[in-house]
Amino acid sequence: MQQEILEKDLPARLAGKGKRYLTITFGCQANEFDTEVLAGMLESAGYSAAGGPDDADLIIINTCAVRRKPEEKVAGLLGRLKALKEKNKDLVIAVGGCMPQQPGVARDLARRFRFVDLIFGTHALPRFPQLLERARESRRTLVDVDTDEEVGSREGLPVRRSRDFHAWLPVIQGCNNFCSYCIVPYVRGRERSRFFDEIIGDARSLAASGYMEITLLGQNVNSYGNDLHEERDFADLLMELDKMDGLSRIRFLTSHPKDLSPRLIEAMRRGEKICEHLHLPVQAGSNRILKLMNRRYSREHYLELVLALKEAIPDISLTTDLMVGFPGETEEDFRQTLDLMEEARFDQSFTFIYSPRPGTTAAKEKELLSPGEKTERLVILTEMQNRISLEINKALVGKKVELLVEGSSKKNPEMQSGRTRTNKLVHFQCCRGSQR
Ligand code: SAM
Ligand code: SF4
Repeated sequence: MQQEILEKDLPARLAGKGKRYLTITFGCQANEFDTEVLAGMLESAGYSAAGGPDDADLIIINTCAVRRKPEEKVAGLLGRLKALKEKNKDLVIAVGGCMPQQPGVARDLARRFRFVDLIFGTHALPRFPQLLERARESRRTLVDVDTDEEVGSREGLPVRRSRDFHAWLPVIQGCNNFCSYCIVPYVRGRERSRFFDEIIGDARSLAASGYMEITLLGQNVNSYGNDLHEERDFADLLMELDKMDGLSRIRFLTSHPKDLSPRLIEAMRRGEKICEHLHLPVQAGSNRILKLMNRRYSREHYLELVLALKEAIPDISLTTDLMVGFPGETEEDFRQTLDLMEEARFDQSFTFIYSPRPGTTAAKEKELLSPGEKTERLVILTEMQNRISLEINKALVGKKVELLVEGSSKKNPEMQSGRTRTNKLVHFQCCRGSQR
């Protein structure tokens, strides 16, 4: 059971009664969930959340290595935390996650930021309580970037969820795909599916605790079960969860287009709780670039999937990830990305400038575009998406939609905000007396 806090399982000496912790998270939903596990382990040992860095006894930075920018932000943040550590020698600073899991990076961080007490990689998460205890006693930076992760060692860890209506639910860790630009398989390891029954058990206790919405997580949820040599695949998992009382909405992230099966589309069509939203990263619209990226699908196949999805689930909202400036991307390749965007008519796109990641195959290729040219392509792509998103959203004016209310709007506390089943954020004025 993922969300139950099992105090007896944690070392008594980690007792953090009266101590406060602060977490700072970069990157994807997998990292957000890992931070919830770190917070769960700390709270079960008596820690409570700090209001900010100044009243924290422990600060954990959970890092991302997918692009260079978040790494630079971590370095900037650590520079600022140095002054805090000088003022408060008892403050413990820990840096975890994907960034130190890259070869040589943990050592480099330890050398540059000597005041950091603990550096731990993605595989060390279940060992965090013991590591923290050792780091407190050590006068040097303690580093654990071992890739050994015992099967099942993440099961049963306590989770402090950041929202009370929505829960992340990991179904598979790691990735086997080795897209040529991507660091994830190197820092998160090979695919490891969780057992079907463990996931169902977690979902059942989440539903019983009042969570209405769950998002199943994996770098590629579509390969769920391949390593278990089970009969049941991701579509079976979705259909089983769809029958569960208590849950209202089921979402999942991320799907790789090469593994999106007709069975999965059928499960989405039939499942009443499975939301009409699919995040299907395409990355590029040119077959030449897709091949260089090692994505293992063609532009034509991707567009066929879009058509099949829209036919099966007419209200579906499609979102994607796109990159510009991949090594060797010509004007013509970029034009094909724009064409694909126009044809697929995504509800939303997450657009990125390619960032070379040391150790990946693409990082060995020469980059021909200047930073200015890459930014120019990003702006053109983003503007096109903004226009399409506006057209799609305007077509919803006057329609009634179901919202799961998330609370006060971040932009305007007088308003409430909620999400549609299609994952659109809606800000609205709530009637008097019915606010949460
Ligand atoms: N597993 C997911 C997938 O296959 O789409 C997500 C992987 S990654 C955390 C999220 C997105 O970051 C990718 O879809 C890609 O667009 C982007 N990304 C990954 N590596 C990148 C790189 N080296 N430079 C720029 N963007 C990158
Ligand atoms: Fe990275 Fe590709 Fe794996 Fe996604 S599928 S995590 S982009 S290697």
